[in-house]
Amino acid sequence: MNIQFIDLKRQYAMIKDDVATRMQGVLDRSAYIMGAEVAELEGELAAFAGTKYAVSCSSGTDALMLALMALDLKAGDEVIVPAFTFIATAEVVALLGAVPVFADIDEKTYNVSVESVKTKITPATKGIIAVDIFGAAADYDGLQALADQNGLWLIQDAAQSFGATYKGSRVPSQTRFGCTSFFPAKPLGCYGDGGMVFCDSKEDFDLMCSFRVHGKGLTKYDNDRVGINGRLDTLQAAVLLAKFPLFKQEIAKRQQVADTYAELFDGRVVVPFVESHNESVFAQYCVRVRDRATVMDALKAKGVPCAIYYPKPLHLQKAFEELGGKKGDLPVCEAVSEDIFGLPMHPYLTRAEQQYIVDAVCSSGGI
Ligand SMILES: *Cc1c(COP(=O)(O)O)cnc(C)c1O
Repeated sequence: MNIQFIDLKRQYAMIKDDVATRMQGVLDRSAYIMGAEVAELEGELAAFAGTKYAVSCSSGTDALMLALMALDLKAGDEVIVPAFTFIATAEVVALLGAVPVFADIDEKTYNVSVESVKTKITPATKGIIAVDIFGAAADYDGLQALADQNGLWLIQDAAQSFGATYKGSRVPSQTRFGCTSFFPAKPLGCYGDGGMVFCDSKEDFDLMCSFRVHGKGLTKYDNDRVGINGRLDTLQAAVLLAKFPLFKQEIAKRQQVADTYAELFDGRVVVPFVESHNESVFAQYCVRVRDRATVMDALKAKGVPCAIYYPKPLHLQKAFEELGGKKGDLPVCEAVSEDIFGLPMHPYLTRAEQQYIVDAVCSSGGI
C-alpha cells in the first residue's frame, strides 16, 4: 500500500485541467505581480469567510506580520501566544522586537488555555495571538472576553484552520485579524508559499495593503511607512482559484476521514477532541499514545508516514532561550509534546488505507 501523509498528487489529478487553464491565463497576460487573479481570489475568499476584506500575501508568516504591523506592535511590547504551535506564531512577534510570552494549552483541545493566558497578562501586554491548532478553532468567546476586559487585541492564527467553523461562523472571521496560510500542506494549499489576512475594518485593510508593498502611499513611489515585500504571486492566486471549488467538498471529506479514524480506533488511542460547537478541517490528525517511539517505528516499518507535531514547545526552543523558559513552566504542552504525533490525513484516504494504518498502530505494542 502506497500511503501518503498528504496526497497532493491524487488531488492534482482531479483538477489538472482547471489548474492548467488558470495558469495559462496568467502566462498569456503576463501580469505576474498583482494580476487580476489576486483581487478575484481575495473577493472570493472574503465572501467564503464572511468578512468584508481579505489581504492576500506571500505566506502565513507574513499574514501574521502584516496584522502585527497594522497594530503598530513596538519593541518591548508583550504578546501572549501558545507554546504549542509552529514557530512562526511567536517568531513574527520577536522579529518586530516585541516579546512573545508563552501560555499553556488545554489538555483536550490542545488550543491555548484562557486560564493560562490570564496569568500571563502584565502592564506590557498588548495582545494575544490564538492558534487554531490542527484545524479546530480556539475558544474565541473566552479569549475575546479576556482581551476586552484588559484592553488587548486578539489575532487568530488560522494557518491550519481555514474553512473550519466556530459556533456556525466560518474560520477565520472570529477576530479582528484572521490570518491563514496556503502552504501546500495546509487544508487549502497553493503550489508554493501564500497567505491571507481577513478583516472587517477598512482602516486595518488599508494599512495592511500598504505594509504589504513597502509601506506605499497613494502613488507609486510615495512611501508612508516602512513595510515589506509581501505580495501573493498571481500564479499562486490562479492555482488557488482552480482549487477552491474542490476545497468545499474536501472539507466534508476530511470530516469523514476523521470520523472513520475515530470509529476504527474505537478508544484504543487518544484521538482528536473537537468541541461540539466546532467543525475542524483536520490539518493534522494527531493521536496520543503510551510509547510514541515504538508506535512510530512500527508505522515506518510498514510504510506508513507519520510526523511529530510538535516535539518541543516554543518556550524550550533555543531560538527563545533568552526569554528564560524552562522545563516545568507549561506542564500541559510539555506532556502533550512527549506522546503526540500525526497520522496520514488528507481528503482522499480510503477506508482500506485507514484500516491498514489503524492496524499498524494498534499492533505496534506501543499503545
Ligand atoms: C504553517 C503555519 C504558519 C506559517 O505559515 P507559512 O505559510 O508557512 O508561513 C503559522 N502558524 C501556524 C500555526 C502554522 O501551522
